[in-house]
Amino acid sequence: MTAPLPAAADHTYDLGFARWVYANINGGDKLSLCMQCGVCSGSCPIGTQMDYGPRKLFMMIRAGMKEEVLSSNTMWNCTLCYRCVVRCPRGVPVTYILQGLASKAAELGYGAKEDNTHFARSFWWSAKSFGRTDERLVTAKYYFSFGLKEGMRRGIGNLKTALGLIRTGRMHLGTPHRIKDRGGLQAILAKAAEIEKREGADG
Ligand code: SF4
Ligand code: SF4
Repeated sequence: MTAPLPAAADHTYDLGFARWVYANINGGDKLSLCMQCGVCSGSCPIGTQMDYGPRKLFMMIRAGMKEEVLSSNTMWNCTLCYRCVVRCPRGVPVTYILQGLASKAAELGYGAKEDNTHFARSFWWSAKSFGRTDERLVTAKYYFSFGLKEGMRRGIGNLKTALGLIRTGRMHLGTPHRIKDRGGLQAILAKAAEIEKREGADG
């Protein structure tokens, strides 16, 4: 007797998604060059920590699996090592595409639960506020971005390491280091935001 077919997976396919990626993601227009050889996924040192390797993610983009692509952890776990870019036989800028997807996914409200999103926000907060990354404050902000209880748990869990860093002079105590011209930094960031907004509006 023939076994019954498994129930169809509950996918929604957005057939305009690939076109949207081509038009809105930096390097996305090069996706059409991908021949699905899998060299990128096979070269990726962090592939086992990704929901889907780059090859599969690109296939899913073409298939219109918008929700699965934008809610995957693939782009958040990419370490920007560029091995895939160096090895891709078709010159697909895999890393840029993943970073562009992460940025758009965050803009659209995806990725909020990813560890790396919390870390990126904490890092950016420090860079913007002080012009430097203060590892103590970045770490504290990152830990407590998961809530008070989780922040305490992570802090206590790493207390020994922190004390060791202080003892050996690898982590300073006192006020955060700041750049001198923070006003200049704010002006640069405001200009960058203005350019980004203008280019976004131009499509
Ligand atoms: S290595 Fe390049 S061509 Fe091959 S699957 Fe990856 S992106 Fe596509
Ligand atoms: S750049 Fe990202 S996707 Fe490419 S090999 Fe490195 S970690 Fe993997």
